[in-house]
Amino acid sequence: MNPSPDFPGSPEPAEPLDAAPVPAADQADSPAGFADDPAPLVVPPSQHPLRPEMISPEALKVLRRLDESGYKAYLCGGGVRDLLLGIAPKDFDVATDARPEEIKHVFRNCRIIGRRFRLAHVIFRDVIIETATFRALLDPSPTDASAAESVAIPSRRRSDIPDPTYATRGGVVVRDNVYGTPSDDARRRDFTVNGLFYDIADGSIIDYVGGLRDLSARVLRVIGDPAARFHEDPVRMVRAVRIASQLGFAIEPAALDAIRAQGSELAMSSRERLYEEMLKIRNCGHARDVFDQARALGLFRVVHPAVDAWLDSPSGTPYLPWIRKAYAQFDIWKRNRLLPHPALQYALMLGPCFEDEAARITARDGLSDYDAMIAAVPSVMRAPGDLTQIPKNVILEVQRIMTLQVQMRKSTATSRYAENLRNRYGFDLAAIYLKFAAALDPARKPLLDRWLSGGPVPAHDYNTRRHHPLRRSRPRRPPRR
Ligand code: ATP
Ligand code: MG
Repeated sequence: MNPSPDFPGSPEPAEPLDAAPVPAADQADSPAGFADDPAPLVVPPSQHPLRPEMISPEALKVLRRLDESGYKAYLCGGGVRDLLLGIAPKDFDVATDARPEEIKHVFRNCRIIGRRFRLAHVIFRDVIIETATFRALLDPSPTDASAAESVAIPSRRRSDIPDPTYATRGGVVVRDNVYGTPSDDARRRDFTVNGLFYDIADGSIIDYVGGLRDLSARVLRVIGDPAARFHEDPVRMVRAVRIASQLGFAIEPAALDAIRAQGSELAMSSRERLYEEMLKIRNCGHARDVFDQARALGLFRVVHPAVDAWLDSPSGTPYLPWIRKAYAQFDIWKRNRLLPHPALQYALMLGPCFEDEAARITARDGLSDYDAMIAAVPSVMRAPGDLTQIPKNVILEVQRIMTLQVQMRKSTATSRYAENLRNRYGFDLAAIYLKFAAALDPARKPLLDRWLSGGPVPAHDYNTRRHHPLRRSRPRRPPRR
């Protein structure tokens, strides 16, 4: 292994890491199981740039308090990865050998959550630090399940669930609190760069999975066999494309092949979870890249088959630059720390598709433009085969933005009716849509000009924070599997 640790922002010239891995010093007196762990690569603080001051005060408090109480306390996941790369992490997660009850004992401000994975939330004023006990990866195949004290759970009632750690209902893993060693915990993670630990006790980075090497080489590599790990949880394919774009990393060829071959397995994933993943993509700051790559790899077609088919059709193809521009707009908002309503994002991405569908409905059923638009929006957003479960309230907001376009087209912009429209809830988002559309399609410019000359239209510059109708972005807790 020859990881060259050219970390950005390294405090002092880091020494090469190609020395033999230093075994974790305290392995011998660790809890049962840990002694069997293969030796990780341990990089002392003098050879990496991660300093405790870079960690949020809340996460640092959790790490230090666990350490003082005699537990292992590691910063893990994207927090370590991003700090080593010189990027501000979205959130900080902690992994420890303390059990959830023990964590609760250490922190008064702690709640144990989750049934499938029990973890502790240490709650601060503005932030929650997710603190998870080291976990093992269990193959949900029957053999492994029976090996791990499988108990059949008769119902969803909490009281029916006995304490042991692994359970299945109809073959689906409903609970797998199989605690593991740090090595197990690193290996059950998705990508090598997500499997690094920062040990608060001595400031070292602990690498069981070759994450440091891949961080230096800027490669996103799956831990284990990509085909098997994607089969286990197909959402990892979507995460791969997002995280690689976010970091500017190349996805390892074997994982690319697996994505091309297994993309359709996403149909097995929860549609709510996929909706959340799409939200994360749009707000990750590199949404346009993710869109391009997801289309090239065929993942976009799997998740949104109807939109993909429309983009390949004669009426949709001219709008490919439009939808790419919409994704690029999300990236601009992210840079300006603005958080658009998901409905505005759907309107920007799919506006022409809604218009097309509305025209088709009018031609077929003779509905008014307004009623056809009301019907067109859910017909596109809930198209058969689409793998995302878009919440109803988002669909309602998209209908509002799109029907306001119809109403604006029919109004002189100066009448009493126009005044009424201007005061309508949601007009600010409709105005942003119109400005975005007019910038892309000259045929829409006269409508915008008419409305601008007829009176104030909110959000004159929708990319700045002044008077913007978009929320200021705050870090958001990603949903758990
Ligand atoms: P970011 O927070 O920047 O989106 P992240 O890598 O921190 O990226 P999270 O969703 O916060 O992503 O997850 C935290 C960590 O949990 C990951 O770094 C990874 O180690 C692990 N993880 C998350 N999702 C999965 C998954 N589907 N399979 C395996 N491990 C996962
Ligand atoms: Mg994270």
